[in-house]
Amino acid sequence: MPDAMVAASLSEATSGGTTQQVDVAVVGAGFAGLYLLHRLRKAGFTTVVLEEADDVGGTWYWNRYPGARCDIQTIDYSYTFDPELESAWKWSEKYATQPEILRYFGFVADRYDLRRDIRFRTRITAATWDQAAERWLLTTNEGATVSCRYYVMATGCLSAPKPPEIDGVKDFKGEVYFTGRWPHEEVELAGKRVAVIGTGSSGIQSIPLIAEQAEHLTVFQRTPNFALPAHNGPAPADRVALLQGDRASYREQARWSLAGVPWPQQTAVSWQLSDAERRERLDEAWAKGDLVYILTQLWADQAVDVDGNALLADLIREKIHETVKDPETAAALTPHDHPFGAKRPCLDTNYYATYNRPDVTLVNLRQEPIKSITASGIKTDERTFDVDVIVFATGFDAMTGAIMAVHPITGRGGKSLSDVWANGPQTYLGLTVAGFPNLFMITGPGSPSVLSNMAVSIEQHVDWVVDRLIAMREAGFTAIEATETAQAGWARHMADCATLTLHRLANTWYTGANVPGKALGVMPYTGGVGPYRSICNEVASGGMLGFRLTGPNVAEQCNDGEIVRLQPDVRLVLNMLADMKLPPLESFGAQGARDFLAEFNAARPAGRPVGEVVDGTLPGTDGPLPYRLYRPTTPGPHPIVVYFHGGGWVLGDQESDDPFCRDMCRRTGMIFVSVGYRHAPEHRFPTAAEDGYAATRWIAEHAADLGGKPGPVMVAGWSAGANIAAVTCQLARDRGGPQISGQLLVCPVTDCTFDRPSYSDNATGYFLTRSLMYWFWDLYCSPADRTDPRASPLRGKLEGLPQALVLTCEFDPLHDEGVAYAEALAAAGVPVEQLNARGHFHSSFTMVDVVITTVSGRVQMAEALRRFAGLPSERRQGDEGVRPGRTASPHEIAAAAG
Ligand code: NAP
Repeated sequence: MPDAMVAASLSEATSGGTTQQVDVAVVGAGFAGLYLLHRLRKAGFTTVVLEEADDVGGTWYWNRYPGARCDIQTIDYSYTFDPELESAWKWSEKYATQPEILRYFGFVADRYDLRRDIRFRTRITAATWDQAAERWLLTTNEGATVSCRYYVMATGCLSAPKPPEIDGVKDFKGEVYFTGRWPHEEVELAGKRVAVIGTGSSGIQSIPLIAEQAEHLTVFQRTPNFALPAHNGPAPADRVALLQGDRASYREQARWSLAGVPWPQQTAVSWQLSDAERRERLDEAWAKGDLVYILTQLWADQAVDVDGNALLADLIREKIHETVKDPETAAALTPHDHPFGAKRPCLDTNYYATYNRPDVTLVNLRQEPIKSITASGIKTDERTFDVDVIVFATGFDAMTGAIMAVHPITGRGGKSLSDVWANGPQTYLGLTVAGFPNLFMITGPGSPSVLSNMAVSIEQHVDWVVDRLIAMREAGFTAIEATETAQAGWARHMADCATLTLHRLANTWYTGANVPGKALGVMPYTGGVGPYRSICNEVASGGMLGFRLTGPNVAEQCNDGEIVRLQPDVRLVLNMLADMKLPPLESFGAQGARDFLAEFNAARPAGRPVGEVVDGTLPGTDGPLPYRLYRPTTPGPHPIVVYFHGGGWVLGDQESDDPFCRDMCRRTGMIFVSVGYRHAPEHRFPTAAEDGYAATRWIAEHAADLGGKPGPVMVAGWSAGANIAAVTCQLARDRGGPQISGQLLVCPVTDCTFDRPSYSDNATGYFLTRSLMYWFWDLYCSPADRTDPRASPLRGKLEGLPQALVLTCEFDPLHDEGVAYAEALAAAGVPVEQLNARGHFHSSFTMVDVVITTVSGRVQMAEALRRFAGLPSERRQGDEGVRPGRTASPHEIAAAAG
C-alpha cells in the first residue's frame, strides 16, 4: 500500500475539530523531522509535524546569512536511508550552500509527499502529559490543539538564537540582523558601514562575503577561533570514488565510525612522529580542507591529550600568522584559550585573508570590551564605532534551548522539564527523560549529535525511536519511560566520556558556557557515534534496559539498570578482546602465554619519551637479574622507585609495563627501575619474592651510582608485581632494610583465598579471569606455601610498614583482596590511601594511552609517590578529571576545567 493510503486509512485526525488526534506528533520539519515523518508513516503511525517556519529545512531554513554552507562534505551530509534518493540527487559542490541544501530538503519533501502532514507556521505553546489518557496534549499558537500518544522533538541543536546580552541593542537606529534569523529578502550592504559581532562558524563564514559588499566592516571579536580553509569546489574525486565503489559499505563504515564520516582510526601517536612528519601531516590536512579529517587524522592523541593537541594547535597558529599580514591583528586572531577541537573549529573561505583588506578592522574585545550599543553604533571601553548595520553572529542557546526555552513541557506529576533540567540536562541516551513518558528527542543533549556528522546521528536516532515504537505496538505497550537509575547511569557514563576528550577544557556552547547563567557541562555525548549505536542496540536487545513499559492489557516490563558501567575506553578494549574470541590464556601454556603477551604488547602505542632508558643487570640471590631504568629529563639526582611488573609471577619482564613506567617517570620526575625478577613455573615460590627484595636492597645501596638520591627508595608494582612490592616492604622491615618510604600497590594480589565476592562477580569477561588466577597460583606456589606472608602478604604482620597507596579496579577479581589489604594496613596504623577505580578492569592502569580514563588515577599515584618522597605536588592542566572512587557530573567537570 502506498504511504499516502496507509496514512489516510489509519489517521484519526479530526478534520474541522479542535483537537487533532494522532499517534505521533513531531516538532520541526528539518533534517530529523522529515525522516521521522517518512519512517513513521511507513510504519503505519498517524503523524503530524508541527513547524514554525513556512517551509521545510529547519536550521537551514533560518540560517540563510551570506556564506552559509555545511562544513561536513555534502556527500556525507545527506540522507542514506534510500539508495534511490541518493542516486536521484547530485550535489554540485564539496560543501553545498544553504540554498542548495534547502532545495535538497524541498526535493525530499516532494519525493515522499511529506508536506501534506506538516502544519507550517505552527508554534507549540505548551506540551502536557495526561497520565490518565497516556497522551500528550499540545497547544499551538494557531488554535488547533494536538493530542498524541508520542511526542518527538526534532527541534535541532542550534535553532534557538541566544540574545546578544549587550546593553542598548534596542537604541540602535540602523539595521540589525541575526545570522540565525536572516531575512528572506535581499539584504543590501553595499556602501554601508557594517559591524559583525561574533566569530564562531556563522561569523567566520559570513565575514569575508560581508567585507566584499560593505563600505567598511568592523569585526568585534571576543574569543578567536580556529578556522581552516574549506577549499570548496567539486567533491574530491577520491571520496566520491570511495563512496561510489561500494556505497553500502561506505555508509555502514560511517555509521560505526567515531564522528560519522568513514575515516580510519589513527594509530600513530604524536611523540612517534618527528617535527617534519607532523608538519607534513598538517600541510596535507590543510590542503584537503576537511574538518573531520583534521580533527581525527593527524595523530592518535590529538583529541585526547593536552600535549598531543598543543603540537597541532601550534602548527595551526603558525598558519594564521603566515596569512595575516599585520602582526597585531594576527596575534589577536590566534586562539590560545582552548585546545584545538575542544571548541567547534570552523571551515572558512578567505577568512584570515579578509583582515588584510584596508576596509576591514578587527576590534579585540578582550582588550576593549563592548560597553553598549548606542543609537549610532557600538561603544567599547576605548572607542566609539559609528555603523549603519549590526550583524549579530552571537550564536545559540544550544542543545537545550529549542527543547526547553521554546515552550513549557510538563511531564508526569506536573513536573516541568525546565525545573528538572535547572542544573543541566538529564537524559537517558540523549533520547528520553525520566518523568516524561513517551517523549523523545532527536539529537538531544546526551546524544553524539553535534559532535558527529548530524546526518548519520539523526538517521540512527530516528531509526531507533521508530523501531521501538513498532516493537511496543506489537507487544501491546502504550507508554515508555526511562528509569532514574538508567538516567543517572547515563550521566555517569557521559561524565566518563567527557574525561576522555578535551571538550571539558573549553568554554563553549557544547558546555553551555556561552549563555550566561546556564548550567555548565559537556552536553553532547563524546563517546562517538559507533559506540553510541552499539549501546542503543544493547539497550534494545537487553529487554529495553533502563525503561519501564506499560500498557492496558500487558504486564509492566521494567528491566532496570545502567547500560554502561565500564569506562568508555575499557568497554572498547574489552569488546575488541571479545571479538578476537581468544582461547583462555592458560590454555597456551606458560611459554605460549608469554609469547602471546609479547605479541600483544608489540601492538600497543609506543611509550612516551623520557630522559633516558638504560638496560642493565643487578646481582640477585642466584645470579644477575635484568632491569630497565627510566630517568626523567630533569637534572638529578632523582628519588628512586623500584618497580615490579605484573603477570601472575609467570609472565612479563622488566619491559612489559614499559608505557606505565615511562608515564610514571614523567609524572613523578623520579627514576623508575623495573626489575626482571624470575618467573614460575621454572622458579617457584619464593623466588619472585626473594628476587624482589634482593633487587630493592641492591638498588637502594647503589642509588647514587644509578643517578638517584641516596636514602630511602619507594616500591611500586602492578598485580603480582604489587604482591612482590608489598612483600618487599615486609621483608625490608624484618631484615633490617633497605629503608622504604612508600609503597604503591596497583591491583595487588594479597591473599591466596578465592572466596571474596569480587572473585565470583568478576570471574569472567574482564581479561583476568578467576581460572587464570587459579593457574597462576598453581604454577607459582604449592597450596602449603600459599599462606606464607611472602605469598599472601595480607597474612603477615602489617605494623610498621611504609605508607601506602592501594589502587583497586571495580571489575577485577582481585578487587576485594586489594581493599582488604588497605583496610588491614590502616588497622595496623599504617597511613594508607585506597582508591577504587570505577569502571576499570585489572589491566586498565598499565594500558597507558589506550585506557586514557586512567589519567586521573595515574595523576593521583604520581602525587602519592611525590608525597612519599617528601616532594611538593605537581598538577598540570588537563589532569583534572574524575577521581577514581567518586563520580563527578559532566557539569562539575566543565566547571572545574573552566
Ligand atoms: P558560536 O560558535 O556560539 O559563536 C558565537 C560568537 O559570538 C562567538 O565568537 C562568541 O564569542 C560571540 N559572542 C556571543 N555573545 C557575545 C557578546 N555578548 N559579545 C561579544 N561576542 C559575543 O555561534 P555560531 O557561529 O552561530 O555557530 C554555532 C554552531 O553552529 C557552530 O559551532 C557550528 O556547529 C554550527 N554552524 C555550522 C555552520 C556550518 O558551517 N555548517 C555554520 C554556522 C554554524 P565567545 O566565543 O567569546 O563566546
